[in-house]
Amino acid sequence: MFEGIPVDVSPIYEGERIRKGQYYVELAGPKSKGAELARVLPMEEVEDEKVTIIGPDIDQMEEGKAYPFGLYVKIAGDDLETDLEGVFERKIHYYLNYIQGFMHLNSRDLIWCRISKDSFKKGLRLHHVGKVLIKMYKKEFNAVKKVEVIIYTDPKEVDKFIEEARSIYEKRDARLRGLKDEDADVFYSCLLCQSFAPSHICVITPNRPGGCGAVTWLEGRAAVKIDPNGPIGVIEKGKCLDPVKGEYEGVNRYVQEKSGGKIQRVFLYSLFDNPHTSCGCFEAIAFYIPEVDGIGIVHREFKGMTPIGLPFSTLAGQVGGGVQSNGFLGIAIEYMRSPKFLQADGGWYRVVWMPKALKERLKAAIPSELYEKIATEEDAKDLDSLKKYLYEKQHPVVKKLKEKESKEVTEEKKEEKVQEPQKEVIQQVQQIPVTMQAQPSTQIVPNFTIILKNAKIYAEKIIIKKK
Ligand code: SF4
Repeated sequence: MFEGIPVDVSPIYEGERIRKGQYYVELAGPKSKGAELARVLPMEEVEDEKVTIIGPDIDQMEEGKAYPFGLYVKIAGDDLETDLEGVFERKIHYYLNYIQGFMHLNSRDLIWCRISKDSFKKGLRLHHVGKVLIKMYKKEFNAVKKVEVIIYTDPKEVDKFIEEARSIYEKRDARLRGLKDEDADVFYSCLLCQSFAPSHICVITPNRPGGCGAVTWLEGRAAVKIDPNGPIGVIEKGKCLDPVKGEYEGVNRYVQEKSGGKIQRVFLYSLFDNPHTSCGCFEAIAFYIPEVDGIGIVHREFKGMTPIGLPFSTLAGQVGGGVQSNGFLGIAIEYMRSPKFLQADGGWYRVVWMPKALKERLKAAIPSELYEKIATEEDAKDLDSLKKYLYEKQHPVVKKLKEKESKEVTEEKKEEKVQEPQKEVIQQVQQIPVTMQAQPSTQIVPNFTIILKNAKIYAEKIIIKKK
């Protein structure tokens, strides 16, 4: 497809999985660190078609190891708005997955890449990766005039780059915090992940970014301007059917059409009944814990177990693929800073558990009176210790739990009272002999069926005698 690239480059390689034993090296990911960043800059700050590698290229890396990886794409063009940065950044995922033998997962500072042994043997190196990105941006966007790529693999340079990238992500996310869904004239949709989750539609509103965290409402608006027929589209909101759950007539109509009828309704601010679909790129998962009637949150970087005994990876398998999973939801971390964050379910006041690192990261967004009451992996490793912690700290869910428990006790007592007279009657029958005759020839007990209808049997002892 591309001249000068030693491997094929085509959308047919999207979804190609490179498993353990098949990769030459890993870049970023859980065993190392990394980030990606796309920026829209003035023309004079971008050196067109230039690829710079700061640190070792793949052929200077040891087979089977994981290395730090930073990917910086600088873009300039006519009338490009900085609001497009998130959209351009998300494109990195797709363009890199077009390269035969290159696997890219996740987004922002959670990226994870692998390069296959076969493609390495064919000569694939990092400067080719940069060249592919440059060609793809120019091919897809007429307005893009200059693209430059810098790839960092030197550990110190990657550290500096990650810091810089995080400060840009934060500035981008902060721009939207003053806007409300009620004030927006339209919402946006993103269908980019339909390539692997066919019924998934991200509904992007000012108070709810796409699950990957990379596409916000402002980015949606900018993307529609430069590519009106692209994967990001406009959703006419229509009538608001439920302001608490976040149900809109126009959103329902749109998801019905784009999911081929698989999804009928979407509640934008709830985990239950008709939650938003999840693709697989989400930064975190919110999951209902019925035993404490609360909500747990786990993010992609957390490698331990949640108190329900499942790690992020197992939960992700249950939630992803473009389905609506009642009680489970893939979300962007920025959504947890939104005033609409699961508002129909109690928002932060229903959150009972989250990893310590995530809790610290979101400290400013968590109501101060609640902060100490949310357990982390250090406070609760299973459901028993979680329940104990919540009772000790008097978490808001405890009030409901106590009410539920006392209701159950009252109902049990009522049941006992109702059952007593029957018990007396039944106790009058002191023995019910059941005799089974064995077949003399085979010594096998014949098949039999006992049907007890509307029966309650109380017995102190059952004796089965073999004759
Ligand atoms: S997670 Fe949503 S917003 Fe992000 S790329 Fe996928 S569909 Fe688009």
